[in-house]
Amino acid sequence: MCYLIEFGDFLSTDLKNTDNKQTIKPWEQLLELYPGLNEPIRESWNDPLSIRKIYMITPTKTRAEQIADLTRLAQTLYLVPNLFWIIIEDEIKPTQRIHRLLQSFHLPFVHLNIATPDYLKPTQNQSTWRRPRGMFQKNIALQWIRSNTNRNDDALVYFADDDNTYHWKLFQEIRKVQSVGVWPVGLVGELLYERPICLNGKVHSWFHFIYRKRKFPTDMAGFAIHLNLIHKYSNYIFNVSATSIGQQESQILDTMTTQDQLECLANNASKIYVWHTKTQIMFITAAHKLQKAGLTYDLISEL
Ligand code: UDP
Ligand code: MN
Repeated sequence: MCYLIEFGDFLSTDLKNTDNKQTIKPWEQLLELYPGLNEPIRESWNDPLSIRKIYMITPTKTRAEQIADLTRLAQTLYLVPNLFWIIIEDEIKPTQRIHRLLQSFHLPFVHLNIATPDYLKPTQNQSTWRRPRGMFQKNIALQWIRSNTNRNDDALVYFADDDNTYHWKLFQEIRKVQSVGVWPVGLVGELLYERPICLNGKVHSWFHFIYRKRKFPTDMAGFAIHLNLIHKYSNYIFNVSATSIGQQESQILDTMTTQDQLECLANNASKIYVWHTKTQIMFITAAHKLQKAGLTYDLISEL
């Protein structure tokens, strides 16, 4: 198997060490054992563009998978310097459980909240795509940014849902954005990817399949906006009405930019660095059914 070949040296070195003495290896020696393992960290943290801050906006809904999703995302962020994480819980109050989780990572963050009104939440029989997902929360984040950053700061704003998958190189692309940058998103729109089709760094057309009427047919994960534009269009908020579901990306881009001005990133939009993955909704047995089987959860904590 190929991982055995790649890690062969490490395995044999380790297995040869049969004297049973547990020694703590210094970092330098670890790097010899795992050559190249620190390359992503070094490249990402040494990137001269990392002087430009990223404000990353993550709405998060209370669901069984939430802590697992946020853990995976937070641990991706260890690879990313100078990023400020704005997390907005879909709750009437910020919860202790999410606050504790966020504190455990020691990443720079702010923890906000707003509850999606009940009448807009999907009921059990409705498909969720007809409902605004995380839009009230994104609007709160836009307000926070306008009140807590300087309109002339050189920084970027990116919308990052909690269950997507992000390669660390995506954040290097975000930092190249001068005004609005776009790139492919994997596993979205009933396709392996949607993407802008670019000629010499400019968007020529879009590769997409569903909702063909979108002017900017990209997912939220497929663009970043300069902070100045968030301040310039100081009244802009996402429209949460049912008629605009599926149009939100198009609407913010149509307000703040034009197709001509878009910058094609990720090697002229030929690389996928972000995937619109969806966490499988787990079947969790209701507590009253567990009780009938004589089972109750004891008070272990998620951390
Ligand atoms: N979300 C939310 N409230 C909701 C539904 C979703 O805050 O009522 C958040 C969710 O945690 C995620 C984002 O909004 O960060 C997008 O939601 P989801 O991943 O469920 O939607 P999809 O992947 O289908 O776009
Ligand atoms: Mn999602």
